[in-house]
Amino acid sequence: MLLRALREEVLSANLELVRQGAVLYTFGNVSGISRQDGLVAIKPSGVAYEKLTPEQIVVSDLNGRIVDGKLRPSTDLRTHLELYKHFPNIGGVAHTHSRAAAAWAQAQRPIPCFGTTHADYFDGPIPVTAPLDVEQISGDYEKATGIAICETFAQLDPDAIPAVLVARHGPFCWGPDAAAAAHNAVILEYVAEMAYRTLVVNPGIQPLARELHDKHFSRRHGPNAYYGQITAERR
Ligand SMILES: [Zn+2]
Repeated sequence: MLLRALREEVLSANLELVRQGAVLYTFGNVSGISRQDGLVAIKPSGVAYEKLTPEQIVVSDLNGRIVDGKLRPSTDLRTHLELYKHFPNIGGVAHTHSRAAAAWAQAQRPIPCFGTTHADYFDGPIPVTAPLDVEQISGDYEKATGIAICETFAQLDPDAIPAVLVARHGPFCWGPDAAAAAHNAVILEYVAEMAYRTLVVNPGIQPLARELHDKHFSRRHGPNAYYGQITAERR
């Protein structure tokens, strides 16, 4: 089987979304890329998660040509491919319709950073894409969705804010690999739910002060990170 390890990793990241309650039925999809081979492994379209096997994970090239797998890939494959082409450091993409994050996407409101949980993972508000026009919707819709995401990041760093809300649709998240992308999707849902509740408790609350935001983001990310244990790369 082509890219067995990547397929297993993608399968396990998809199942993690189910375990954490971030997907309902067959909603959502996770993919992972082998940059070396220029190939992407993604969940097949419409298959129940509990029945998924590594063989059923579909392998595609960066143009969407299927190179291994008997099933059709997730319909969002072309959105994933745009992200891999434009965000060179990412190794995995996760898409869900998780309730709180999708509510912010439907409302077309960026998720402000109100607290340190958000700042630990995302270096700023979670942006919302511009809505697609009629031509984009009737044409290559999934590719247009990917392009809209990349345009949203024209002035933003996708490695520092590994998530976006697609207007009227839901979140796409990414990370260094498929597991990290799924993890970020679960954290985004948690942060989206907390931001909503924060505004209910205090509608006038302002975003987190820059100093505290920077403190939390930089102690987990970047050259001076000190959260967690020292890993081989950090030594
Ligand atoms: Zn969707």
